[in-house]
Amino acid sequence: MKTITGIPASPGVAIGSAFLYVDNDVPEIPRYNMIRELAGSEILRLRAAINEAEEELRAILDRSKKEMSGEHTAIFEAHIMMLEDADFIRQLEKRISDELQNAEWVVWDMARELMGKMMASPDPVFRDRVVDINDVSKRVLYRLLSIKKISLADIKNDCILVAHDLLPSEVMMMNRGCVKAIVMDMGGGTSHTAILARAFNIPAALGLSTATTEIAGGDTIAVDGNSGEVTINPDKTVLSKYQKATVIYLKKRNEFLRMRDLPAETVDGRRFTLKANIEIPEEAESAADYGAQGIGLYRSEFLFLAPGKAAEEEVQFEAYRRVLTAMGDFPVTIRTVDIGGDKVLADFQATLEKNPLLGWRAIRFSLALPDLFKTQLRAILRASMYGNVRIMFPLISGFEELEQARLLLDEAREECRKKGQVFSDHIAVGTMIEVPSAAMIADILAGRSDFFSIGTNDLIQYSLAVDRGNERVNYLAQPVHPAVLRFLKKTIDAAHEKGIVAAMCGEMAGDPGVTAVLMGLGLDEFSMAAQSIPAVKKIIRKLNREDCGLLAGELLKGRSASENNETLQKWMAKRRLP
Ligand code: PEP
Ligand code: MG
Repeated sequence: MKTITGIPASPGVAIGSAFLYVDNDVPEIPRYNMIRELAGSEILRLRAAINEAEEELRAILDRSKKEMSGEHTAIFEAHIMMLEDADFIRQLEKRISDELQNAEWVVWDMARELMGKMMASPDPVFRDRVVDINDVSKRVLYRLLSIKKISLADIKNDCILVAHDLLPSEVMMMNRGCVKAIVMDMGGGTSHTAILARAFNIPAALGLSTATTEIAGGDTIAVDGNSGEVTINPDKTVLSKYQKATVIYLKKRNEFLRMRDLPAETVDGRRFTLKANIEIPEEAESAADYGAQGIGLYRSEFLFLAPGKAAEEEVQFEAYRRVLTAMGDFPVTIRTVDIGGDKVLADFQATLEKNPLLGWRAIRFSLALPDLFKTQLRAILRASMYGNVRIMFPLISGFEELEQARLLLDEAREECRKKGQVFSDHIAVGTMIEVPSAAMIADILAGRSDFFSIGTNDLIQYSLAVDRGNERVNYLAQPVHPAVLRFLKKTIDAAHEKGIVAAMCGEMAGDPGVTAVLMGLGLDEFSMAAQSIPAVKKIIRKLNREDCGLLAGELLKGRSASENNETLQKWMAKRRLP
């Protein structure tokens, strides 16, 4: 028996058999030249790999016809068609014989070239193909390199998923019914993999560094997503501890659910609005059970990252309508796509940029692809007739970005009008404050925003220079760092001066350990994973605003995150708060 400890990323406990997901990354692609005489046999090697990949796909297709939805089946059919594309194969063979390069390199290079072109295409249908080309070309590469690939969609038995790293798109793809917990070497508490695990109610311990080397496939493991502890081959004592923890966890959850209809009101009578963050439309249907007073952040990009048909206007419209209908009169804030950063279309796109977190993501991506952006905006406008929708732009770093986004929104409105499509006249347009530059010019941005929502996951990442998915530096991502608190204060004050609401939708908003600080800084609205709402509400109902204001004032003057953490802990302990 052995216990390793990582970052608690999604609450709950689970015991099960480990499913070790081998790293699916393509290793260094070998590149070498051949003598002309060998070109013929290299072409035969390529053909054999393509045939084997096709056979593999046909076997998956047969199985998926029995077990999966039509959407999945269509993907595999499309992949087989790509492998049968005679023109493409001819081009690959020609490059081998003309350039005398090895097959792996030619496949990799042509796939990258093709994906680059498709990503830049204004036509969303072409862009949707990127993920397919990625998948198919990797399948051929794995055959050439003799690597056995598995898909998380193929998991058929209950298991604990153990991986080095998982992309959010892989988490979207996995067979969620069978994965009882996620354990990863990499990742932090605010990484998108963690956010998805919480959305799907799957316990997760991330950032364990050595999980994939210490755990073997088939090992029994116990995962505590509340503490980040993972026990390999637990003995009877640990097993019974976990069984008890499960009972306590369920009891606490039931107690929380009973708080649903109580207001988030301080002892001195100030009410706060608590909303839910969602990643998939289904989550909206259960958000109200936790007492959510609306959706403060709908991460719409997961529509694009999910397997199946990527987001055409109608697909998006249906998803938005579903969320709006589920929420009735409560407001629903749809954040326009935040593709890029760690939310890449499988791992190929990541390799196209040296520094994806500082690269082509979020509003930058949308402004560069106005047709795609306006497709989304039209879908939101049309859905506005089904509820109380608000639009929010991610990763705004300067005034012009906000102006351009608003201009494209006006164009989308005009396009809807021309088609006779109706939409609400009163849609609030908000700005996410998640880049330090935006916080610094919050006074300017507030003049052109109907509300602010602070994305602390990115604001902390960028202001403290800490990659939110990197477990090695995760210890530095401290929400109460004085620099972070000063950015928050500046943003909230700027919002209030212009008479707009200051909301927060980063993970900090759902951490009951810092609720008092946020209240003290003057935050109006908190949006978080729905499951966190009861705990935050419980704390708010015990606090006094003036008291919190004094606390915030003290922390703003603090010298460091550790000093501030100590001050905060003492403050909480004195009031017997958890
Ligand atoms: C944030 O950055 O805090 C945020 C809410 O957006 P995301 O986590 O999707 O980047
Ligand atoms: Mg963000």
